Amino acid sequence: MKTIDEVRLRNIVGKNNLKTDPSDLYIYGSDSSVHHAMPWAVVKPENTSQIQELMKYANENKIPVIPRGGGSGMCGQTVPVNGGIILDMKGMNRILEINLEDVYCRVEPGVVDDDLNLALKQYGVFYPPTPASSRIATIGGEIANNASGVRSVKYGATRDAVLGMKVVLPSGELVSLGAHTRVEASGYQLHKLIVGSEGTLGIVVEATLSFVPIPEFRCMGIANFDSLKDAGEAIGSIMASGSNPSMLELVDDVAIKAVNKTMDLGLKEVAAALIFEADGMVKEAVDYEINKMRKICENHRGADIYASYDPKERAKIFMGRKKLFPALSKYDNNLASTALADDMAVPYSKMAEMAGKIHEIAEKNGLIMTAYGHCGSGCMHTKILMDTKRKDQWSSAKKAITEVYEYVRSVNGTTSAEHGIGLSKAESFKIEKSDSLNLLNTIKQALDPNNILNPGKLMQAPENWVTATNLRYCVNS
Ligand SMILES: Cc1cc2nc3c(=O)[nH]c(=O)nc-3n(C[C@H](O)[C@H](O)[C@H](O)COP(=O)(O)OP(=O)(O)OC[C@H]3O[C@@H](n4cnc5c(N)ncnc54)[C@H](O)[C@@H]3O)c2cc1C
Repeated sequence: MKTIDEVRLRNIVGKNNLKTDPSDLYIYGSDSSVHHAMPWAVVKPENTSQIQELMKYANENKIPVIPRGGGSGMCGQTVPVNGGIILDMKGMNRILEINLEDVYCRVEPGVVDDDLNLALKQYGVFYPPTPASSRIATIGGEIANNASGVRSVKYGATRDAVLGMKVVLPSGELVSLGAHTRVEASGYQLHKLIVGSEGTLGIVVEATLSFVPIPEFRCMGIANFDSLKDAGEAIGSIMASGSNPSMLELVDDVAIKAVNKTMDLGLKEVAAALIFEADGMVKEAVDYEINKMRKICENHRGADIYASYDPKERAKIFMGRKKLFPALSKYDNNLASTALADDMAVPYSKMAEMAGKIHEIAEKNGLIMTAYGHCGSGCMHTKILMDTKRKDQWSSAKKAITEVYEYVRSVNGTTSAEHGIGLSKAESFKIEKSDSLNLLNTIKQALDPNNILNPGKLMQAPENWVTATNLRYCVNS
């Protein structure tokens, strides 16, 4: 561990914005992943010049710096595996401008997604990439992870909504990237490179984001299926039909059981359910979309099909999906819900096969795994419910994850659809991107020659990660 110059840090951010107490450091050592490692210090800057000063100090002394937003990342992106300084960005949380005429807003990176949407709502517009973690996720964290959510099937992911940004480079230099316009063809689109870079290339200190009008009409439906294959095929047919759902979500039987176990929703315990939604400014157009999706579900043996415009009914339909994550955590007191291979994307034609594969792999390895997700975007989530104290469960989980990722790569899918890579998924990421790893490393080297920004992540993550490195659980030998 390198010695941190506490006096210099205190001079940069002020004494109230520096933490070095071990109990504080411990808390900042993990996020929503399975990993943990201790940082050397935590600083909470209040403005861009403080970040520039801090980066200069860290670069001169080759000290790792790990930017952190809400800490809701599920793959260990903010876990300081090489030690260093955690840069808590939540202190920079001002909405700087809402420009209705030019249809953009400018925000600091620590703005929480829900807070931005609350501010936009009064003008009848919304910022659509919103992940399910929108109560805690910050715009900076969403940019760095290229987050997306239930409505990304229609409105796109974070990368589609980011027009430009200001970034502090490891040298301390401040650069403006992108533009304030909807289109730009002026050379390399470097702001798009920062999206999804997981804090490894620069610190986002301001973002210019587009928004869209809140639709006047929203209709949500649900269809039950006796077979996962039928539900998966319905997803493919909906997307291939030219439908434009504003939401298309799948939940499997494990997910439905978990919700029923923890909430009084009385969901029918079928093999799978699809939740679909259409929205727009013209009711007839929404009716058309909903009826089309309804018909496709019927053609794939969907049953109990029901759709409603009523906000209360819609909330009821969506409640099971919305509360799924906490429900899985409470499924069994001895089992934790772990995000190990939790958000792959596969082509639509492979959705049904993928969901079946997850169940097959779970059974083979003696684990409980779910299949659910934003399937309209091709995104399939799983969670592994396991006893994290048992070493043999980690071995089984490792086998299961390896098989899941092997399958995903074999059908031209991708390791992460929205949660990012961090540590948890680095092994599969490196295999998937094997022919561009040199290029990725060259970009990293060019922007961060001293390798101080979030080192040890993405291409740099250690081998044999899952059972051996940086777990936040005590595992019995
Ligand atoms: C219950 C739950 C549900 C979730 N649902 C979704 C979902 O539907 N969709 C989805 O995409 N994700 C989801 N996630 C994952 C996660 O919430 C998102 O990826 C979110 O964008 C992370 O935001 P954060 O502010 O918490 O970032 P953090 O976890 O703090 O950081 C994430 C990454 O961003 C980097 N970073 C943070 N701020 C900056 C900055 N200013 N400059 C540069 N880099 C920065 C960090 O270094 C790290 O690499 C979920 C997580 C949970 C716990």
